[in-house]
Amino acid sequence: MTVTGDSSRDNYREGLLEECREHLPNQPRPHILQLEGGSPRHHHLEDIGANLTDPMYKGLYHGNQKHIADLGDVLNRAWDIGLKKIFITGGSLDDSKIALDLAKTHDQLFSTVGCHPTRCLDFEASDDPEQYLHDLQSLADENKGKVIAIGECGLDYDRLQFCPKETQLQYFERQFSLAEATQLPMFLHSRNAASDFSRLMNQYRDRIRGGVVHSFTGSAEEAKELVDLGLYIGINGCSLKTEENLEAMCSVPTDRLMIETDAPWCEVRPTHVGHKYLMTSFPMRKKDRWEKDHMVKARNEPACIIHVLEILSAVRDEDISDLADAIYENTSRLFFP
Ligand SMILES: [Zn+2]
Repeated sequence: MTVTGDSSRDNYREGLLEECREHLPNQPRPHILQLEGGSPRHHHLEDIGANLTDPMYKGLYHGNQKHIADLGDVLNRAWDIGLKKIFITGGSLDDSKIALDLAKTHDQLFSTVGCHPTRCLDFEASDDPEQYLHDLQSLADENKGKVIAIGECGLDYDRLQFCPKETQLQYFERQFSLAEATQLPMFLHSRNAASDFSRLMNQYRDRIRGGVVHSFTGSAEEAKELVDLGLYIGINGCSLKTEENLEAMCSVPTDRLMIETDAPWCEVRPTHVGHKYLMTSFPMRKKDRWEKDHMVKARNEPACIIHVLEILSAVRDEDISDLADAIYENTSRLFFP
């Protein structure tokens, strides 16, 4: 999630697109991913949540240039690990436009259109919230096939400093109308807001096609409530931190699971209980010692989806290929019916 001024946003957008154009689908890959400790295992994978518009993929960290833009390299590593599709998360109207532009540069990239709970003050800052909503809808309507979900939207009561509860509630509710009008599934965020989230979901569930609650960190009871609403559960590194997380994850039926990275956030850290199940390691360097064919330490990226799959397979005691196929099928069922 980033906030930039208009001109820097335009430069930023151009730079990202430039970086992507250099890596169009049919060009030969200049570099093969080198894994430490084994060869890549090829499963059918989709990353349903990647914030590829984040400045970190341009080498910018808190406004400081630490290395060259490397989104093309990041994408090559993603395809090399077996990712078939990546959904780029849109977090506001402007961000959704950038995400869509990026998605248009590659057949395997898709994007979402919506406003993140922590950014819902954008509706009011725009002076015309209804127009803002209308613009979101036009963006989705005019780009069917590339825009595959309404979101990221929902509620985040852990970060009320960015947007008060009432504003979050108001504009989460308004975004159901986008999901209803477009009949696109929803890419949902719910943090420390389970009861309000379920109440609104119950109210609107019959009008929308469905959705996935991404970055799930709730309890097994909360997971059940969401599954009973017909929703899918998105698991990333943040969902695999504690024993309680693993327990809740295991309670989700296989046919309701999806996986994601939420890159550049939510990587599986050594302190996470899930970390001990990792089988694949990638060559890495610190951000100020960037090196070609190396990931950047502490910056998550879509290729790390393999880590999420490895932990799920080990903890749920399910064959990794079968699990990957089942999750792929779930994703196809919701987003590409
Ligand atoms: Zn989120």
